[in-house]
Amino acid sequence: MVYTAATDRYQNMQFRKCGNSGLKLPLVSLGLWHNFGGIDVFENARNILRLAFDKGITHFDLANNYGPPPGSAEETFGSIFQKDFKPYRDELIISTKAGWGMWPGPYGDLGSKKYLVASLDQSLKRMGLEYVDIFYHHRPDPDTPLEETMGALDLIVRQGKALYVGISSYHPAEAAKAIAILKELGTPCLIHQPKYSMFDRWIENGLLDLLGNEGVGCIPFSPLAQGLLTNKYLHGIPQDSRAASHRGNGAMDEDAITNEKIEKVKKLNALAEQRGQSLAQMALAWVIKDPRVTSVLIGVSKPGQVTDSLQCINNYAFSNDELNLINQILG
Ligand code: NDP
Repeated sequence: MVYTAATDRYQNMQFRKCGNSGLKLPLVSLGLWHNFGGIDVFENARNILRLAFDKGITHFDLANNYGPPPGSAEETFGSIFQKDFKPYRDELIISTKAGWGMWPGPYGDLGSKKYLVASLDQSLKRMGLEYVDIFYHHRPDPDTPLEETMGALDLIVRQGKALYVGISSYHPAEAAKAIAILKELGTPCLIHQPKYSMFDRWIENGLLDLLGNEGVGCIPFSPLAQGLLTNKYLHGIPQDSRAASHRGNGAMDEDAITNEKIEKVKKLNALAEQRGQSLAQMALAWVIKDPRVTSVLIGVSKPGQVTDSLQCINNYAFSNDELNLINQILG
């Protein structure tokens, strides 16, 4: 069936300005790290992407190594893009990244100009795109001068292969340096992509302040701690869950589901119920309550999770009592 996007797709979505830039991102964005690879069901991936766009999710986040196997999420996305989304290219913000190991030898990993430029060329081919909207350096590389890595990002923008650039998982000191170099080069850092959830709050120790002060956007990843911050593991490990599927490439497994975590999840779930939300919705709402967060980057394995999670935008206000209780539960 030919896909025609829902006419009311912008009716309910909220958009936030990405730092000091002119670019707005939807409050919820969709990542393709898992569930869009060569091992996954193509029609499920397609249904998820169609539904997401129909609901106003205009930003899809990829990386060279997403799959498994590495590269296959970009291929899946490329195939769906050609079939469904080509007429909507100018309504989409598509991002990709390089920084983790992608091909053998010294030029397929980390942060050299050689790696970043070649990798983006490969990504564009896999996705059948002329350019991406955002290109990220995926993780810091202490062995490559930051000037070289940031210089590669600047070059890529000047070549027209990306419109904006970002960094991911950089700690405050290295992020500050990267932001300064990019400013000097005339290609401002648009956005930072850090891990952030109720179970992993490291960005509250300096990074959020830095991004807020520098006018750089922030798009947290793994906001549900890969599914732990939902009600799905309350009564064991479901067969169709990420923890049970042993996907590799950083996906969590059963070891992440500890009794200590589940005890906290139970208490958080009770609070979510009081707020009239699912725990997934409350965990996402907790991330977007901070105005320095531009967008929250979710992952989903089923279309129904898009519908559920998206409702976080209907209530992301927390009373002080609720915030204190959450802090107390998290310990
Ligand atoms: P989440 O923490 O949102 O976890 C997603 C998983 O949670 C889903 O696959 C699903 O698991 C479960 N889930 C999602 N919604 C619901 C719901 N409503 N109810 C119950 N369970 C739900 O994010 P990810 O870890 O997937 O990361 C999101 C994105 O962030 C990635 O796709 C990627 O774009 C980006 N990312 C970036 C990284 C970086 O280094 N820059 C690293 C990692 C991710 P299940 O499969 O069990 O159903």
